[in-house]
Amino acid sequence: MTEQPDPVTIVIAGGGSAGWMTAAALGRFLETGYRIRLIESEEIGTVGVGESTIPQIRLFNEALGLDEDAFVRATQATFKLGIEFDGWSRPGERYMHAFGAVGRDVGLIAFQHYWLRARQLGLAKGLDAYALNELAARGHKMHRGQPLGGAAIPDMPYAFQFDAGLYAAWLRRFAELRGVQRTEGKVVEVIRDGESGDVAALLLQSGEQVAGDIFIDCTGFRGLLIEQTLASGFEDWSHWLPCDRALAVPSASDGALTPYTRARALAAGWQWRIPLQHRVGNGHVYCSEYLSDDEATALLLANLEGAPLADPRPLRFTAGRRKRAWKRNVIAIGLSSGFLEPLESTSIHMIQSAISRLLKLLPGRHVAAADRDEYNRQTDFEIERIRDFLILHYAANQRDEPFWRARRAMTLPETLERKIALFAANGNIVREHEELFTEVGWLQVLVGQGIIPHGYHPLADQIAPAELGEYMETIELLYAREAGRMPSHAEFIARHCAAPR
Ligand SMILES: Cc1cc2nc3c(=O)[nH]c(=O)nc-3n(C[C@H](O)[C@H](O)[C@H](O)COP(=O)(O)OP(=O)(O)OC[C@H]3O[C@@H](n4cnc5c(N)ncnc54)[C@H](O)[C@@H]3O)c2cc1C
Repeated sequence: MTEQPDPVTIVIAGGGSAGWMTAAALGRFLETGYRIRLIESEEIGTVGVGESTIPQIRLFNEALGLDEDAFVRATQATFKLGIEFDGWSRPGERYMHAFGAVGRDVGLIAFQHYWLRARQLGLAKGLDAYALNELAARGHKMHRGQPLGGAAIPDMPYAFQFDAGLYAAWLRRFAELRGVQRTEGKVVEVIRDGESGDVAALLLQSGEQVAGDIFIDCTGFRGLLIEQTLASGFEDWSHWLPCDRALAVPSASDGALTPYTRARALAAGWQWRIPLQHRVGNGHVYCSEYLSDDEATALLLANLEGAPLADPRPLRFTAGRRKRAWKRNVIAIGLSSGFLEPLESTSIHMIQSAISRLLKLLPGRHVAAADRDEYNRQTDFEIERIRDFLILHYAANQRDEPFWRARRAMTLPETLERKIALFAANGNIVREHEELFTEVGWLQVLVGQGIIPHGYHPLADQIAPAELGEYMETIELLYAREAGRMPSHAEFIARHCAAPR
């Protein structure tokens, strides 16, 4: 018999959402040849926020083989059909970035071109009338599976709003059952190999040394390995996204189980509202240059719709990314790799996509520079495009407060400038490579922020006005009827996945 080589040891430092999502996935997919360890410190704790997701989270759960209803029950989750942006273009105006289709494309031509022409002819309503997810969300409805009204109706993609602490606890059980070895303890020193400079082991307060071949830094904002040890560097984007503080507070449920997250623009930032089954998650993201902590707290509490269940918890951050998410034998996943405010609920998704990249470019005992470089290239592309999408929400506003006026005056990243100019001319939107947000997502935010193109695709003129009006009306009627047939979000949860009280 040939002797089995020693397994490659992957050490995950940190047990927040990033640490346990990584541990669960590695435990599930690296059954042989690898040994997975995770070190976490209850004394240090986790960031403890991160409750709103995008539909891709379902792919992650499916890949792990998790039962969706069991997951919803275990995490006190609700369903999410999109995000409502309230007051982002100007106070009193609201729009939704709903997941899923808006209208229906005709042949090569995207729906927005017909909508733009119909709008010019006075034959179209707002985009919301043609978005099934938004119609369902506004009616507090939920449905999954085959459309109720047949083939002419699009699918309704959804995500979840959940308790991140319960999710991490659930993933911990999942990972430990698949052989991931957890050690409670504080890392007090990161030991490097004298020759190669790679990380060789983590020294715990207990005196134990945890040696490994590959290290995943999931230690949160501090980036204990990637930054404090390997000095990867941080690219600061706060000139585009200057919000640098948040206050998070749970509140009692106010009855309305909305299947969407709300982001309400305030004087120097915005407030989130994320309804779960047992409570509502709230938070105020703000810019400390324009608002004091006391003012921010007062605004947050004044806007709650239910009684606060705890004191607001302060958090500080800087928008930006780690210059190299993978350096030497350390890969940073989660907050240690960079941070963008939770405006479009993208952080958990970025953890998930980092894990999938890691699995595709998985190192053995030694790192190949080409794999590492490709990983970093893809990571950079992903976060830059998400950054552009977030900046759009701020840049195109017509609000009056000093914070918002300054956002309007920003010089934009060239990639975003190009995207806005392309849309403003003739309504065209191009999704490059594997950019996260689809054309439809960009469309809703561009229009929602008040950017209406001057023209549209010339082929949209080939349809007679009467026919165009009928087309718009048919879509509107079909989608409204479909949404009307759906059970309420509360009924849907009660029927399939109510969590224990
Ligand atoms: C205000 C705010 C709102 C957010 N909202 C959303 C949202 O709605 N949707 C979304 O997708 N994302 C959101 N996020 C992001 C989300 O919270 C994070 O992506 C997610 O929680 C992952 O965090 P993490 O695991 O990287 O870090 P953390 O939760 O900080 O975990 C770090 C881990 O490292 C451990 N650790 C650190 N130092 C040591 C040490 N020396 N020794 C041992 N262990 C150590 C800690 O104990 C902990 O276990 C939000 C973030 C913020 C700041």
